[in-house]
Amino acid sequence: KPVVKSDIEIAQASTMKPIKEIAEKIGLQDDDLELFGKYKAKLSSETLKKLRTNESGKIILVTSINPTPAGEGKSTVTVGLGDAFNRLGKKAMVAMREPSLGPTMGIKGGATGGGYSQVLPMEDINLHFTGDLHAITTANNALAALIDNHLQQGNQLNIDQRRIVWKRALDLNDRALRKIVIGLGGPVQGVPREDGFDITVASEIMAVLCLASDLKNLKERLGKMVIAYNYEKQPVTVADLGVEGALTLLLKEAVKPNLVQTIEHTPAIIHGGPFANIAHGCNSVIATTAASKLADYVVTEAGFGADLGAEKFLNIKARTEGIDPEAVVIVATIRALKMHGGVAKTELGREDTEALTAGFSNLKKHVETIESFGLPYVVAINRFISDSENEVNTLKDLCNQAGIPVALTEVWEKGGEGGIELAGKLLEILEDKEAQFNHLYELSLPIEEKIQTIAQKVYGADKVEYSTKAKKQIRDFESFGWGCLPICMAKTQYSLSDDPAKLGRPSNFTITIRELKPSIGAGFIVALTGDVMTMPGLPKAPAAMNMDVDDDGNALGLF
Ligand code: ADP
Repeated sequence: KPVVKSDIEIAQASTMKPIKEIAEKIGLQDDDLELFGKYKAKLSSETLKKLRTNESGKIILVTSINPTPAGEGKSTVTVGLGDAFNRLGKKAMVAMREPSLGPTMGIKGGATGGGYSQVLPMEDINLHFTGDLHAITTANNALAALIDNHLQQGNQLNIDQRRIVWKRALDLNDRALRKIVIGLGGPVQGVPREDGFDITVASEIMAVLCLASDLKNLKERLGKMVIAYNYEKQPVTVADLGVEGALTLLLKEAVKPNLVQTIEHTPAIIHGGPFANIAHGCNSVIATTAASKLADYVVTEAGFGADLGAEKFLNIKARTEGIDPEAVVIVATIRALKMHGGVAKTELGREDTEALTAGFSNLKKHVETIESFGLPYVVAINRFISDSENEVNTLKDLCNQAGIPVALTEVWEKGGEGGIELAGKLLEILEDKEAQFNHLYELSLPIEEKIQTIAQKVYGADKVEYSTKAKKQIRDFESFGWGCLPICMAKTQYSLSDDPAKLGRPSNFTITIRELKPSIGAGFIVALTGDVMTMPGLPKAPAAMNMDVDDDGNALGLF
């Protein structure tokens, strides 16, 4: 067996260039950068303003089939594809999400790509980076403290303390904080009430920061966030409390995108990382826009599979001007398709073209979804060294027979070199096929019709059912004037249906909407299909158990 180096070993053995040199490649000077040491920088506000008049490059969205525990590698392909474009002499950048410490210390591992397709410095990016998540946590909790102080000081807004929807936040997985009681100890300690913590990336502030177009827009959006309902059951907002200015102040640095580099020195912007269920799962609009003004090709990703991340990118994020993608990459792994075809995780090492053929149905559905958005695409087979030749050929044949453009991608093993075929195919389709991009629904449609469109067109569901609570909420939300917002579906990432056990391409199923949640600052209505964990727990053997730091300060065991 070949010796496989871990992501961190590869990252630590790579040599970074000073970030100023990386910035020069995309036409940025010293004054454009706010340096965080030698290898990280934020882009200054003046630079972001100045860039607005630049021509926009082409945006390529990386998405995938429904994830399985076998792993898909969207981030890895995103990075490798950016590198491949650069190897082909194109001016390209990648725009990705910032990792959260919850999954980093827990189960998922880092979010900086893998193998020879990583962004650097991976330790910093995976740990505290430039402090954006700390700023978001602080803004979130400042608001929570201001709400409780408002109750303490006489509650002029007549807030019903049983209907406060704003929770506290922490960027860790900590299940003990999901539901708590605060304000105990008598009158000077505050007003007792039930509360709870969400992980920071599930805070609406993260979604707001990622959808805001600039600082002014950020403040407007923060002001619109609903924090509670009053005794007349009317919504109370941040603007009612009068603290949107303070919150924006706390976020004024966090809103600036972070510039880093890939192992192959491709410029990368890493900024913002909202959940892909309760929120829209894409990096910030400010970052994607900046990248598109700096490069001719921008490779960006959206969380989970195409049924969640890409759907939300295309129906929510892409409603912001200038964010329309020109092409999509759908990442598939043979391992995951075999799981969709019924193979257990422990059996993935064995060749099984039959299961692969059965699992292909999952990929096919996502292809149809991207087609329904009017976008050209290429399927990227993210090759694992355990995939057999036979399996690779089977998957290629299945794609060819269905007329699906496909490229074998070996960026994990080979870096940008392994993505040349994919990049070449994309350049071809960008040349030949003009995107006829359309959102799947008009915003003016009633909430239920928007949900139905997503459930039927994207998931392949027969119909949608609503709990009594959800039905009442829809009526209330429409009466509050929130009916025209896009929908952010919160659904399991593992299945096209709302049942995580239904792999492949399920049919004859119903989507059940249990509850809705207004994210008015972010500008969408969340429709929850099942229990969505907004404060994850740690697994039996957390990734943290393998982590350490040596006496010189080098990270160990960070994947
Ligand atoms: P996603 O963005 O879809 O969550 P990532 O790109 O973060 O996936 O990859 C998840 C993990 O899988 C990483 O640790 C990465 O190193 C590993 N991985 C991705 N692609 C491959 C591959 N082709 N071979 C081996 N490991 C891979």
